[in-house]
Amino acid sequence: MVITYNKVSTSLIEKFTEIVGENSCFDSFVIRWTYGFGGTIFEKEWIPDLIVLPKTVEQISEILKLANDNKIPVTPRGSGTSLSGGSMTPYNGIVLDLAKMNNIIKIDIENNLVEIEPGVICDDLNEVLKPYSYFFPPDPGSSSVATIGGMVATNAGGIQAFKYGVTKNYVLYLEVVLPNGQILNLGADVLKSVSSYNLKDLFIGSEGTLGVITNIGLRIRPLPKTKKLGLFIFEDVDKLQDAVLEIRRKGIVPNLLEFMDKLILKAVSEYLGGEFLDFPNGYVLLAEVDGVTEREVEENFSILFDIIIQKSPLFHKIAKNEEERERLILSRKANLPALSRIRPSTCVEDCTIQITHFADVIKQIEQIPEKIHAKNLLVATICHMEGNLHPTFLFNENDKQDVKDFQTAIDYLYKKIIIPVGGSLTGEHGIGKIKTPFLELEHGSKVVDLMSKVKKLFDPKMILNPGIGKGDQRSLAKSSILRSLKNRSDNILELKCMRCGFCITTCPSRIYHMIESYSPRGRLSILNGLVHGDLELNELITDIIHTCTSCAICHTKCPAGVKTHEIFEKAREIIHKKS
Ligand SMILES: Cc1cc2nc3c(=O)[nH]c(=O)nc-3n(C[C@H](O)[C@H](O)[C@H](O)COP(=O)(O)OP(=O)(O)OC[C@H]3O[C@@H](n4cnc5c(N)ncnc54)[C@H](O)[C@@H]3O)c2cc1C
Repeated sequence: MVITYNKVSTSLIEKFTEIVGENSCFDSFVIRWTYGFGGTIFEKEWIPDLIVLPKTVEQISEILKLANDNKIPVTPRGSGTSLSGGSMTPYNGIVLDLAKMNNIIKIDIENNLVEIEPGVICDDLNEVLKPYSYFFPPDPGSSSVATIGGMVATNAGGIQAFKYGVTKNYVLYLEVVLPNGQILNLGADVLKSVSSYNLKDLFIGSEGTLGVITNIGLRIRPLPKTKKLGLFIFEDVDKLQDAVLEIRRKGIVPNLLEFMDKLILKAVSEYLGGEFLDFPNGYVLLAEVDGVTEREVEENFSILFDIIIQKSPLFHKIAKNEEERERLILSRKANLPALSRIRPSTCVEDCTIQITHFADVIKQIEQIPEKIHAKNLLVATICHMEGNLHPTFLFNENDKQDVKDFQTAIDYLYKKIIIPVGGSLTGEHGIGKIKTPFLELEHGSKVVDLMSKVKKLFDPKMILNPGIGKGDQRSLAKSSILRSLKNRSDNILELKCMRCGFCITTCPSRIYHMIESYSPRGRLSILNGLVHGDLELNELITDIIHTCTSCAICHTKCPAGVKTHEIFEKAREIIHKKS
């Protein structure tokens, strides 16, 4: 079935501008263009019609009502770091950028509670909580840029989920706005409540398809006082699994238990150099225990250590101090930039399995390229050991055969490996604009139908984030095949930019303007458009390129080491020569 929506007319643009003011509503193609880029997918036809940045819940209510009355799609956006194209717009319409709603409203240590607006960045919240010795534990790899609104909408997890769980374990209450403009308060600011259906939880992980999250009450926890970390390398993945199962049986709960396969260790060693080059190659288990007292941590770590050593790892290294700990953790954090150097395109998948299937599933994933006869495709797997796998495919999206092989590999992964062992299509990244084709495979048609009914109850005109299969199977036709971290060739610019967005939150001109276009990632998108002939140099572009202060903070934050400031300096020289 074809979905039809209306375009945003000039008179409607005026009305949206009246709601938020001129500095928060943009219809210029250059600004809209930059919102076509995010953590993954780029499709030329997916450029939104209008960018609106509300500051209050009342404004959001008015925006949604107006859009709903006129059947215009609205896609909420945090920092656009979704790895499944969550905030991309296959049906165009409005992007509701929540960056300007970034206030921490309340810190209530006695009740273990914070109340925040959705645009608050995860790391910023934890920085504010640090002096109180408290923290909000979910810590996605993107925590320096991910908004809490985006984390709630995707139920984000991170490397400490084994002990601390994921975002849903911390959400006490939500304020949400429905497409008809109605403002609802769901949940309660107490630790226990069964007085309602669990409506709040319907919105956690709903990926912006049911309502816009405008206020969030979160549970917080005391910071652990001490930690101990070890890195272990196994020749045999079965033995690594045995160690993990034994750790579980003995009741030890590491705060961090992470897996990296052989290809990743090789890539990371070459990327980081130093001592890593002396490590033998094999399967890596990073394990850390935290706690309140040194004694408790030492005792638990020693039990964990003995269990692992009994499974005969090839190698182990225990961090003796914070510096060594940071370095070992870096081996995990550097996975994506290290892998992204191997092939032009890097695609991180996300799925979950029971941990008892782990070794078998890893072996099957390793065999995918051979099974599907793909010559250039590589696959490397990272896993949070609660069973959340990130098989990462490396290929060249400019090569037709590679793209075909990648698509076959994805089909193989879900249809032949993950679903048959009772796994789930996504643990933390969401269905987004990529996984709708597999939804029925996991849930069956009755559940998928029920999801549609739930969606229609909240959003009868289906205006909220169309293109996501949850509750909207019609979006199958707009599912993207490509979703790699470097989607759209940057070869001409010789860029390694993965569009992760780590650069946006520290850029002075982005902090001033609070829109994507004035961030380093936004400027690179503009250069990409100029180089490919999609954009023409004009006054606005000249202004945006010139607002880069050349401070180079973006470069220090960039995992791929892109020298953004130098690129903009060159761009400025070219602009001067032309004018
Ligand atoms: C390098 C890298 C590492 C990552 N590591 C992890 C990881 O370890 N764990 C993990 O879970 N994820 C990870 N991610 C994915 C991503 O960062 C998270 O999903 C993050 O929570 C998204 O936050 P965001 O603010 O960028 O949201 P966006 O990407 O802008 O949006 C994500 C989804 O949420 C919806 N949304 C956003 N705000 C709202 C709102 N206020 N109301 C309703 N809907 C809303 C959007 O419509 C979209 O569907 C990683 C991404 C990158 C690039």
